[in-house]
Amino acid sequence: MSISNNLKHIQEEIRIAACQAGRDPSEITLVAVSKTYGPEAINEAISAGAMDIGENKVQEILDKYEKVLPVRWHMIGHLQTNKVKYILDKVSMVHSVDSLKLAKEISRRCLAAEKRMDILIQINGGMENNKYGISSEEVPELAKKIREECPGVRIRGLMCVVPYLEDPEEVRPFFRQAKEVFDRCREVMEDKEGFDCLSMGMSHDFHVAIQEGATHVRVGTSIFGARDYSI
Ligand SMILES: *Cc1c(COP(=O)(O)O)cnc(C)c1O
Repeated sequence: MSISNNLKHIQEEIRIAACQAGRDPSEITLVAVSKTYGPEAINEAISAGAMDIGENKVQEILDKYEKVLPVRWHMIGHLQTNKVKYILDKVSMVHSVDSLKLAKEISRRCLAAEKRMDILIQINGGMENNKYGISSEEVPELAKKIREECPGVRIRGLMCVVPYLEDPEEVRPFFRQAKEVFDRCREVMEDKEGFDCLSMGMSHDFHVAIQEGATHVRVGTSIFGARDYSI
């Protein structure tokens, strides 16, 4: 299957999953995750209708940015404070904020550039050692501090990473918990309307994530194919 066929297939699956869950498909944004894939593959996806591209490394965004058609870029991977400056003029959202230190640096740089960055707070659903993100218990406190101390960022919601489990049903509790934290945070937000993003679900579990309230699904393999990290 070609990238454009894969994309259409995933868009259709998202539509079906949303309808089955009684949700409006237009509430769900597909972020096509292109890590390890080059500009040509990304442009094929964009030409076929992808409007949001996700990358997990600063270097990959920098390498591809100029060669890719105009599109919204999402930073979805761990972001080191010292690399924030390279991507702030390129990405439209940072999904992976998991410390006050990082939020402060994004805020400081954005204020200097007279802009505001949309960010999500990253939850490590399964608290796995090999993944970044904070526990759901820590979210309200971090959100409060960011609101108080980081005027250059706008907290748009949460991102959740979960363990890879063969049976996607098994990750449902993690997604459900993320949605609960999301709803609780929303209640105390001044701008409730603006706290509207819940980024969760990947190629093999996005159906479940949509049932549990995801507004952004991050799908790589099912669009671009299996990644080859050896090259
Ligand atoms: C790679 C990646 C994805 C996409 O995963 P697939 O299984 O290829 O769909 C989603 N989210 C994050 C944070 C990733 O790093």
